[in-house]
Amino acid sequence: MRTSGTARNASREEVGSDELDRSLAQLTWASPSANQSRIAASFLIMSLGMLAHSTAIPPLPKCELGHEIPAHVTLCIVCGAHVGFPNVRYAARKEETEALDKRLADARISATAKGSLDRLEAFGKAVDGSKAVVSRFRADLDAMLSGGGKLMQAYYPAVRAGLRVPQNNEFDPARDPNDARVSPVFYDSLHFAALSLDRLGVPHYGNFAITLREEMIAKRTTVFEENPVKFNERFPASRSRPFPYGYRASWQDRSTLAMAKLQHKIEASTADAEFADILLEKQSDPNAFSDFIEVHVYGPIHPGAFEHVIAEIPDDDLEKLFWDRMKPKLESFGVSFEEVGA
Ligand SMILES: [Zn+2]
Repeated sequence: MRTSGTARNASREEVGSDELDRSLAQLTWASPSANQSRIAASFLIMSLGMLAHSTAIPPLPKCELGHEIPAHVTLCIVCGAHVGFPNVRYAARKEETEALDKRLADARISATAKGSLDRLEAFGKAVDGSKAVVSRFRADLDAMLSGGGKLMQAYYPAVRAGLRVPQNNEFDPARDPNDARVSPVFYDSLHFAALSLDRLGVPHYGNFAITLREEMIAKRTTVFEENPVKFNERFPASRSRPFPYGYRASWQDRSTLAMAKLQHKIEASTADAEFADILLEKQSDPNAFSDFIEVHVYGPIHPGAFEHVIAEIPDDDLEKLFWDRMKPKLESFGVSFEEVGA
């Protein structure tokens, strides 16, 4: 899948120079005057050169009254009408859905060739029931459950407010430009979660895995291929080609993205029990990089949107006390929970 995507991008870039060579050859051959043909050729070089280096930008969607909707807004900037959530609008663009459908069609062809199509379809069916899981540390969850419930801190507003410190690792210092490329201007309004089949999240972000209630997020949530830092390494930014299409999807289409992305990991012998670890790669070291499909939730997250918590409690009296104190609070919000040993 990845190879064909790269090949398509490469051929798009090469179109400019091929056309230029052909056109120059025709002009030089057909024109009676060498000077005239040189002048014409230089104009052609300029215009084709500009074409080759400009990016095809899809038109902005429009509100019901026909006003263009900038990428990052939730209200029309002319008439104030609600225009939905930026990430959902972005994923719904024709360029995105067509490219994703093409990736899935290619994935099905590859799966048919290796005899794993039935298992790929079973995986897709399982992912239709997948959940968004946010991982947090104890102090963050405790704060959210206090009073009538406090809002979860989104990463960027928390960093800007001095409430959270980016870690000195290979990802955090590069997060801003990479998230901005994937979710231009609106990235700081997103909560980031992982797509999960077993309600386990990414331990690196905290030992409390919080499953979000689907009905509270479905309309404002999208999924993205992988960690944007990794993605942008695979598809470096360039003015001469658009951001690759087909690597994001609406919440409702999340299984399409998962099937397209992970077809190569599903064999004819893959059992249902293996699906969860294929969707969200587990690592024994909590700080190791694990591959997963990123979930982007636009807007606030309140404990009323929590469904279930898996708590990994260390063998420590104080931590156990904190956890015991948290249980009735979780119950008061109607959140089920379970405890696993650290
Ligand atoms: Zn409008």
